[in-house]
Amino acid sequence: MAARRPLIAGNWKMNGLKLDGLTLAQAVAQDVGKPGAVGCELLVCPPATLVMTIAHVLVGSSVGLGGQDCHAKVSGAHTGDISAAMLRDAGAAYVIVGHSERRTDHGESDAQVLAKAQAAQAAGLTAIICIGETEAQYVAGQTLDVLSRQIAGSVPDGAKAAATVVAYEPVWAIGTGRTPTNDEIAAAHAHIRKELAKRTADAAAVRLLYGGSVKPSNAAEILRLPDVDGALVGGASLIAADFAAIARSCP
Ligand code: PEP
Repeated sequence: MAARRPLIAGNWKMNGLKLDGLTLAQAVAQDVGKPGAVGCELLVCPPATLVMTIAHVLVGSSVGLGGQDCHAKVSGAHTGDISAAMLRDAGAAYVIVGHSERRTDHGESDAQVLAKAQAAQAAGLTAIICIGETEAQYVAGQTLDVLSRQIAGSVPDGAKAAATVVAYEPVWAIGTGRTPTNDEIAAAHAHIRKELAKRTADAAAVRLLYGGSVKPSNAAEILRLPDVDGALVGGASLIAADFAAIARSCP
């Protein structure tokens, strides 16, 4: 099997003014951001307003930088939107696309998420493509079907592992303190990899992240599950010590 370096990515969402972001990024960089400090790759995804500022703070550290969303177009009359090239220009190497909060709050469809992932990759960014079932779908036993549909609809055909990460985030686990069982997480990740193989020859090398209420107390057991190659962390990524503890939990 291809070697997959675990990735711990922090999604700060719409949190933090300049001083908060600088303080948090500095704390993460000083704690776990020294080259070789942890065995995984680290990434923070601040609000767009802070990307360029935080890029300066992270110079010399091994913490990477990502955006939380991008527009599918390169430029144009799209007031309030940000292109993938702009994120790259500001210092980002990654961008999250299709987060469930974007799918819900902004009605983003699989087709739109696909277009964003393609735009991100065309601009030289690695796309972190989020998928995951709602609570109703989970209760109805539809998780694997939903994941199949979202992968078919939002992962670019022939996606290269270097430019593609897939994050499995059950919508009902985000910010709730609830998580699927370890068996359910492992089954979902195995299914995702199998479905990815229908779209890309690189499926074995694509990193799959689990996201949804990851915290220091559950990170180690989740991160050691087969086919789990890291975590997308929301709330706990806003606390430097918690994010660092999760990073240290990487096998
Ligand atoms: C997220 O929003 O991507 C997320 C995983 O949030 P939390 O860790 O707070 O559940």
